[in-house]
Amino acid sequence: MTVYSGPVFDMAVNQFGVIANHLEIPMDERGRILMPKRAVTVSCPIHRDDGTVAVFEGYRVQHHLTLGPTKGGTRFAPSVDIGEVAALAIWMSWKCALVGLPYGGAKGGVNVDLSTISKRELEGLSRRYMQEMIPFVGPHTDVMAPDMGTNEQVMAWFMDTYSMYQGQTVTEIVTGKPVSSGGTLGRREATGRGVAYLAKRVLKELSINPGSATAVIQGFGNVGSYAALELQQYGLKIIAVSDHTGALHDPNGLDIPALMRHAGAHGSIAGFSNELTFDPEQILTLPCDVLVPAAMERVIDATVAENLKCRVLAEGANGPTTPEADLVLEKRQDEVFLIPDILCNSGGVVVSYFEWVQDLQQLFWEEEEVTRREYAILDRAFDHMLQRAKADKIPHRTAAMAIGVEKVRAAKNVRGLFP
Ligand code: GLU
Repeated sequence: MTVYSGPVFDMAVNQFGVIANHLEIPMDERGRILMPKRAVTVSCPIHRDDGTVAVFEGYRVQHHLTLGPTKGGTRFAPSVDIGEVAALAIWMSWKCALVGLPYGGAKGGVNVDLSTISKRELEGLSRRYMQEMIPFVGPHTDVMAPDMGTNEQVMAWFMDTYSMYQGQTVTEIVTGKPVSSGGTLGRREATGRGVAYLAKRVLKELSINPGSATAVIQGFGNVGSYAALELQQYGLKIIAVSDHTGALHDPNGLDIPALMRHAGAHGSIAGFSNELTFDPEQILTLPCDVLVPAAMERVIDATVAENLKCRVLAEGANGPTTPEADLVLEKRQDEVFLIPDILCNSGGVVVSYFEWVQDLQQLFWEEEEVTRREYAILDRAFDHMLQRAKADKIPHRTAAMAIGVEKVRAAKNVRGLFP
């Protein structure tokens, strides 16, 4: 039992155990690699529109400090607790190491149901959360970014709050900002683009023509919507999409740009069409070529894994597949090609890294350069994962995580234990 114990943290521990066994890491070395270095809990009081005061609980977990600053998103959602945030921070570490970024993993969040607060209250909460975090973050200490429930506007408020306290503009304190305030071209699209790019690569490996392929997308936030748009541009038909309000299904293919405009204006896919509504419970097991879970953790359990009817499982979300489901997928490796989360959705943090570098240098790149470099990193990491999986005869997730864990471990061992 630790302060982090809970279903999501236990999942990250379980996954690490599989990797540590595979890498034969001695038992007395495991805690040093796995356990988060720092965790902060803050209370964030805000003025509500009706004049009362409400207090929200906020968290930030910095997993390891071995390779540079920590990096990771901030989540505003009712599911947020210290265990979920810690697990997400750990996954960020393996992700950053896998793709070769000079960061440890971090994650933060506030336990809040966004449907219950106004835009003005959201600004107050965002600013107060960042203000409470000032002693613990910095451009060379810990760099935040968007995650579920946060967006470019929230990042702009974070950056402004930090900057007001410093007495100067510090754009490099967060990534995922609007382009008008130090953000980079291509960050908004980066995660979804990366998911689609890797899915297309796998379709090619499987000799499936994108022009006659279908995709299903669970979640229509930043990741799901841009993954859908990009896959559609590659020629795939997006036959189903869901979000927290419901699902839509159209065997002829949904109009993704129209759906994005609708979701942008109304906050969800609800009300887009009455004829196309579908049971969201069934979306993951629809027959399709590419399935993109881009919503919550742990949506694919062993039963769902047994019933998946996709050829490619492209994990846009963090931690969508439980360890029990992984055992099922291991048996179904020839039927379902898994692109594991820490690789599949890493385009987001890769382009966050580009944004941080551009802000530090005050030298900004064309979008074409951002995207070209993003794809080059994804291609290299994909190659490494596949080579490792083949060489060690292990599943893709084990291979991807082993590469990440190994890099963190090597850096810790060469630096030694202080004092
Ligand atoms: N929240 C995203 C993730 O889970 C992005 C993190 C970042 O850009 O730092 O990878």
